[in-house]
Amino acid sequence: MGACIPAPSRGVGACPPAGGSRVPPHPGPEHWHKDFPIAKGHRQSPVDIDTKAAAHDPALKPLTVSYEQVVSRRILNNGHSFNVEFDDSQNTAVLKGGPLADTYRLVQFHFHWGSCDGQGSEHTVDQEKYAAELHLVHWNTKYGDFGTAVKQPDGLAVLGVFLKVGDAKPGLQKVVDALCSIKTKGKSAAFTGFDPCGLLPGSLDYWTYPGSLTTPPLLECVTWIVLREPISVSSEQINTFRQLSFNKEGEAEELMVDNWRPTQPLHGRQVRASFQ
Ligand SMILES: [Zn+2]
Repeated sequence: MGACIPAPSRGVGACPPAGGSRVPPHPGPEHWHKDFPIAKGHRQSPVDIDTKAAAHDPALKPLTVSYEQVVSRRILNNGHSFNVEFDDSQNTAVLKGGPLADTYRLVQFHFHWGSCDGQGSEHTVDQEKYAAELHLVHWNTKYGDFGTAVKQPDGLAVLGVFLKVGDAKPGLQKVVDALCSIKTKGKSAAFTGFDPCGLLPGSLDYWTYPGSLTTPPLLECVTWIVLREPISVSSEQINTFRQLSFNKEGEAEELMVDNWRPTQPLHGRQVRASFQ
């Protein structure tokens, strides 16, 4: 493990399509339906959030994010993104309220990002892409464990946060500094004492809709809660994400960029807003 070398800066420019240049073993999202037919299902994610069509629902409660006792464990390059994993053996970090009828326990977070600042988010707002998107993944405690929860329509709650490029996000820097030790697929490192509250914006106003995982197996088990206010990260911070690799150590280098799925049809679903 050595010092991280800063990546060359990549500004807004010509952005290639997601997965456009990928070859097996990393087939892009347009191929997923062959092994996972639910990819063409009617409750798929991400979606475009049409802010004019997303009606305020006064019945939606404020979101309760209770991460005070959170216990982070490890950071892992899984070949799609990197996961920061939490101890989910107890209710130490939970999400409830908002559209949720139950208590959901934090298990991991990860990001999706672009090869340049003009793309990278999975959800879009009025067709506009952000540079990246954070997903804090929680499972419904009434199902006992994550594996059982993903088979249920109300099994997961994912809190989505958009990232734009500007000022640095101090709460992200511990994550950025850990990436040089997990450059390739399968590498992991201890990652303790991390507070995910440092990744949230000031406002918890949100949009919500029923959807799916955005990577295979694409299960339709997610209540999506997407925050309206983005966080700002620096170009140096996001460029460090772009130095990770999809490949294993010793294989041909394939930089981990554009690990986002394009938006999917709503098929009649309503996106609701917690705010006027
Ligand atoms: Zn995700």
